[in-house]
Amino acid sequence: MDKNFLSDMALRSRGQPMFDILQEAQALQRSGKNILHFELGDPDFDTPKNITKAACDALKNGHTHYAPSMGIFEFREAIAETTSSSRGFRPNLDQVLVTPGGNPIIFLTIACTTNPGDEVIVPDPGFPSYFSAIDICGAVPVSVPLKEENSFQLKPADVFCAVTPKTKLIILNSPSNPTGACMSKEEIDEIARFAIEKNIYLLSDEIYARLVFGESDFHSPSIHDKCQKNIIVLNGFSKAFAMTGWRLGVAVGPSHLINKMNLMLNTIVSCVPPFIQIAGIEAIYGHQNELNAMKTEYVKRMELFVEGLNTINGISCVKPKGAMYAFPNIKETGLSSNEFAKKCLNDAGVALLPGNCFGDNGEGYARVCFVNSESVISDAIDRLKDIF
Ligand code: PMP
Repeated sequence: MDKNFLSDMALRSRGQPMFDILQEAQALQRSGKNILHFELGDPDFDTPKNITKAACDALKNGHTHYAPSMGIFEFREAIAETTSSSRGFRPNLDQVLVTPGGNPIIFLTIACTTNPGDEVIVPDPGFPSYFSAIDICGAVPVSVPLKEENSFQLKPADVFCAVTPKTKLIILNSPSNPTGACMSKEEIDEIARFAIEKNIYLLSDEIYARLVFGESDFHSPSIHDKCQKNIIVLNGFSKAFAMTGWRLGVAVGPSHLINKMNLMLNTIVSCVPPFIQIAGIEAIYGHQNELNAMKTEYVKRMELFVEGLNTINGISCVKPKGAMYAFPNIKETGLSSNEFAKKCLNDAGVALLPGNCFGDNGEGYARVCFVNSESVISDAIDRLKDIF
């Protein structure tokens, strides 16, 4: 088909490159090669049983019809309640939008806040959907490099330097995909105050909020305007609750913006299935034993992976503070990120992502995800030691 038959918007979409790499790894696996998977941020744990049971019960009880497009009342109440206990303010229900996963919130926020040519400040390396959604909407990404010497933390001074009269939106992601970095409370607050003062929207992608390691606490910028003026919080159930396949996310933001995001969302998907939202209520209020056990396991895996990576020739890795990823520096191997990822897959059967999937500044790095057991991680480290 001649590509000229497609819209400019279609031609600008680039999606999430990790799905291509998963496909490649799976093709090798089908051809008989033994592959260890660390490429996709999809927990290997099952969804906690109490959550699955809540969904099954809801299905049996007939919750199989359309739901209100903003989300069912009880679930949005639960989100308002949990925002109050975790972030210190209770949003009104017209500030709460239920979405099929976290990704649509990225797209809808960008689509509803930018016109073509407007600038969006993005951390680089950063989650690929930010770049793809900005491109689709015809906005302009302005990358702020995350530096390894700062443990990949986004620095307020770098954000302020990147702002121009065309800046409409700043994206924060702490804990971060792909680096696992967490920003300090002071730096998050500084950016929040700046955004409000300059009247710039601030999307805080908090999908890893429940996955902060060690003693430090999660901090959200949202308290500064209670999501009433500039700040939008992206949250989702995919990661912390091992619910990637359920597609459940929640946006909390200014009601004027949430209202338009809802109209766009219901044009595309009508609503999120009610039995999924009922499972979300159980995830929030039910026991958290399995969630805590998963987090403990992630920390053990992270320690093992980072320690192991640091014993391999040409590779060095800073310790992530949260999320489920490490972002090793591979520059001393003499390979580009793409060459490195290909070599790991083809010569060692270790599937990981080249750092440049996450922006130009990710070149020279790779991303590994702690979604496999400690014994599989040890096996991967041994295999990598054999080839480097
Ligand atoms: N934001 C970040 C930083 C992510 O890493 C992801 C998932 N990898 C998402 C948003 C989207 O999450 P979901 O799978 O719920 O759409």
